[in-house]
Amino acid sequence: MVRAERVHKSFGPLKVLKGIDLEVAPREVFCLIGPSGSGKSTFLRCINHLEKINAGRLWVDGELVGYRQHRGKLYELKDREVASKRRDIGMVFQRFNLFPHMTALENVMEAPVHVKRESKASARERAMKLLDRVGLADKAPNYPSQLSGGQQQRVAIARALAMEPKLMLFDEPTSALDPELVGDVLDVMRGLAEDGMTMVVVTHEMGFAREVGDALVFMDDGVVVEAGHPREVLTNPQHERTKSFLSKVL
Ligand code: ATP
Ligand code: MG
Repeated sequence: MVRAERVHKSFGPLKVLKGIDLEVAPREVFCLIGPSGSGKSTFLRCINHLEKINAGRLWVDGELVGYRQHRGKLYELKDREVASKRRDIGMVFQRFNLFPHMTALENVMEAPVHVKRESKASARERAMKLLDRVGLADKAPNYPSQLSGGQQQRVAIARALAMEPKLMLFDEPTSALDPELVGDVLDVMRGLAEDGMTMVVVTHEMGFAREVGDALVFMDDGVVVEAGHPREVLTNPQHERTKSFLSKVL
C-alpha cells in the first residue's frame, strides 16, 4: 500500500529524511516510532502529498506520489489531481483538527457533501453510523468545544473515515490527551485494524504497537534504524540507538 525507496527530504540545508526504505502491506498496522525531530511527521506528510520529496521514490497504492505516468514519461500532478489523490488518504493529527463552528455530525458530513457531492441525506446517515462506530452517536449535535479531547479525536477519526480512505495515517493521535482518555481512542483504532484498514501510526504507545501492530520501524535522524515485528523489536532490540530510545519510553 505504501512503498518508500531511498526517500530524501530536506528543508533548505536541513536534511530531515536521509534515504527511507520501507513497505507497508495492505491491511497492515504499521507503527513508526523514534525520537523528536527524527522525521516521522515529515514522512507521513510526504505520503499525504503535503511535502514533496527531494529524491527517491514513494508509492501509495501502486501509484507514484506526486506524479502521473503517461507513455513512459512522468508528469508532475496538478493541484486538482493531488487533491483527488489525497481524498483516498485519511489523516488524524496530534492536535484535534475539527471545524470549531460545526457540530460533530456536521464535521463528519462536511467532506462527503462538499468534496464528493454526496447528498446531505446519505452523508448524514453515513456520518451517524460512523459516529456510532466511534462510540459517539449521542454527541452528534455537540460542538467540538463541548467534547473532551478524546471525543474530539474520535470525531476526527470518524471524519477521516467518512471519505472511505484506502489508507489512514495517524500522527501521535493520543499524545495530546489526558491519560484517562487515551484508551477510548486506541480502542477505536484497534477496531479499525480488526476491520482490515491499512494504517500507518506514529505513536509513543508501545502497548498499542505491541498488541495491534503488524510491523514496527524505529527511525532516528532521518533513517530507519531498525524494523521488524513489534514484539521482536520491543523485546529484543538489536541496535544501541533503539535500545537507548526504548529504555526512555518503555
Ligand atoms: P516529533 O516526535 O517531535 O513530532 P518528528 O519525528 O515528527 O518529531 P518532524 O516533525 O518530521 O519530526 O521534524 C523533523 C525535522 O524537520 C525537525 O528538525 C523539524 O524542525 C524540521 N522541519 C519539519 N517541518 C519543517 C518545515 N516545514 N520547515 C523547516 N523545517 C522543518
Ligand atoms: Mg511529529
